[in-house]
Amino acid sequence: MEHFDAIIIGAGFAGLYQLHILRDRLGLKVKVLEKADGVGGTWYWNRYPGARCDTESKAYSYYFSKDLYEAWDWSERYPTQPEIERYLNFVCDKLNLRKDIQFKSEVSDLIYSEKNNIWSIQLKNGNKVSAKYVIAAVGCLSFTNKPEIPNEKIFNGEIYHTGNWPQKNPTFQNKRVGIIGTGSTGIQVIPEVAKIAKKLTVFQRTPNYSVPAKNHKLTKSDQLNANKEFEKLEQLMLHHRGGHPWTHSNISAKDTNEIKRNELYERAWENGGLSFRDTFSDLSINNESNETASNFIKEKIKNIVNDSKTANLLTNFDHPFGSKRPPIDTNYYETFNRKNVNLIDIRENPIISFTKNGIQTSNDEYELDALILATGFDALTGTLLNMKIKGRKNITLNEYWKAGPLTNLGLSIPNFPNLFLITGPGSPAVLTNMPRAIEQHAEWISDCIKFMIINENDTIEATQLSAETWIESVYEAVKGNFFLSAKHSWYLGGNIPEKPKVFIPYAGGLDKYRQICDAVSKSDYNGFVFTKSLNN
Ligand code: NAP
Repeated sequence: MEHFDAIIIGAGFAGLYQLHILRDRLGLKVKVLEKADGVGGTWYWNRYPGARCDTESKAYSYYFSKDLYEAWDWSERYPTQPEIERYLNFVCDKLNLRKDIQFKSEVSDLIYSEKNNIWSIQLKNGNKVSAKYVIAAVGCLSFTNKPEIPNEKIFNGEIYHTGNWPQKNPTFQNKRVGIIGTGSTGIQVIPEVAKIAKKLTVFQRTPNYSVPAKNHKLTKSDQLNANKEFEKLEQLMLHHRGGHPWTHSNISAKDTNEIKRNELYERAWENGGLSFRDTFSDLSINNESNETASNFIKEKIKNIVNDSKTANLLTNFDHPFGSKRPPIDTNYYETFNRKNVNLIDIRENPIISFTKNGIQTSNDEYELDALILATGFDALTGTLLNMKIKGRKNITLNEYWKAGPLTNLGLSIPNFPNLFLITGPGSPAVLTNMPRAIEQHAEWISDCIKFMIINENDTIEATQLSAETWIESVYEAVKGNFFLSAKHSWYLGGNIPEKPKVFIPYAGGLDKYRQICDAVSKSDYNGFVFTKSLNN
C-alpha cells in the first residue's frame, strides 16, 4: 500500500489549491483522489444546460497568484460551467498538478489507526493507500438529493439529476420535459430547456425570489480592468462578510423613505446579481425592511408574468427574502410567458408517483418523455457521511455527528486526528464566494501542517470543548437572522427528512471568521491538542 504525507479527497477548487501549496510550498508527498475522470468538482458534475456561477467571474477565481489571475481571461460577467471547467484544467496544467491526481478513485472508507497514527483510505475500485494527513476537499454541494418518488421503475422516460448530469448532453428537442425544483439550479435550467423542449412542465413546491443576473460578454477592456483592479478587488473581498467585491450598505430599508428606497432597489435590480441582497443593511434581520425587498420583487414578477394565476403561484412565498440562498437568473420569469411552459403547484397537489407515461400528482397526470430533478443536495455533510470515516477508538463520524455536525471552526473534528475539512460544516463556506473561503482554509491547513513539521508533532486534534464552544458560536452568529425561518432550507438540513435540523454554516461573516482562525494559529492553536510519538 503506497503511503503519502497527505491525501486530499476531491479535485475541485479546494483540492487543487491544497495540492499546490502542500506539495510546492511544504514539499510534501501528496496525492489527490478524485471520483470523476476530470478536475472540477462541482463544476464537473453540474453540467446541466444553463449551469453558470452566480458570483462574477472576476471574483470567482483564485487570488493567491496575480500572475495566474492575469493569465486567464473570462469571457462573460458570470462564468458558465464549461468555462469554469476549462479554467480549472488550465490551473491544473499551469501548476503541473495533474500528475499528482488519481482520477476514477472514489473513497469508500477512511480508517484511522491509533497504533500507527496512519489513515488508511479504501477506494471503491479496490485500491488502498495510506497517509499521515487527510484533507477532505469534497465540496459542500456534492451529494445529490434524489427524492423517492414511488414507481420510478415503471416510468418509460428518461430521468436526470442536475447534480449528476451526463457527459453527453441529452437532447430535449421535441420532447415533453418535466422539471422538479425551483432553487438556484432549477431557475437556471428551466429557461434553457424551455427553449428546446416541445413542452415543459415545471413542478414547483416553493417559489423562490430571483433577481436578474444581467449577464453580458466581457470586452477586452473589461478584462484589462479586472487585471488592473486585482488589488482593489482583493481588498474588497477581504472585508466583505461573504467574500464578494463590494461594500456593505449601512442604510436601513425601513428608515429610508419609499421614493429613495425604490430608487435604490431599482438601481440594484438593473445592476443585477447577488449584490441586490446588500442594498440595505437590515434585510436579513428586520421584518419591516425585509418586506420592502419581498414586495419589490413580487411587483417585478407580476409585471413580467402575463398570466395572473401563474404570477400568483410564483409569488406565493412562504419565507422571507434571503432566508434561503437567493438565486439570480436570466429570463426565468419571462420563461413562464412561453406557450410551451406550464407551472404546476405541487404544494397544493403533491406528486404521488411515477406512471408509465409520466408523473401523477394528487389531481392530475402529466405525460413526460424526460424528467429533470433539480432537487439539490444533502448539503455540507452528505458526502462526508457517505464515506465511512472511523476515528479514534473506532468512533464513526455518523455516530459522532448524530445530533448534528460538531467541528472546531469547520476545520477539524474531535476524535479524528490529522483529518482536516475544507469549507466543512461550521465554517462560512456556502454563505460566501467559495474560492475566497477555500483559499483561506487551504492556507490555514497548510500553515498548521508546517507548524507540526517544525515542532515535530505527530497529531493534531480539535478538543471536544473547543468544538462545543465553536458550535455555540455558530448558533450565536445566526441568532435573529431570517436564515432560521426557512424551515425547508438546506442550510438547516430542512430538505432531507432524516437530517438533524440544525443551522450548519457559520453566519458571522468570512471577514470575522478569518480573524478568528488567524488568532487561533497565532496562539499556537488554542483549542487543539498536539501529540508527539516516542520516536521524536
Ligand atoms: P435547492 O436550493 O435545494 O433547491 C431544490 C429545489 O427542489 C427546491 O425548489 C425544492 O423545493 C425542490 N425539491 C427538493 N425536493 C423535492 C421533493 N421531494 N419534491 C418536490 N420538490 C422538491 O437546490 P439547488 O437549486 O440545486 O441549489 C442548491 C445550492 O447550490 C444553491 O442554493 C446554491 O448555493 C448552489 N448553486 C449555485 C449555483 C450558482 O452559483 N450558479 C447554481 C446552482 C446551485 P422546496 O424549496 O419546497 O424544498
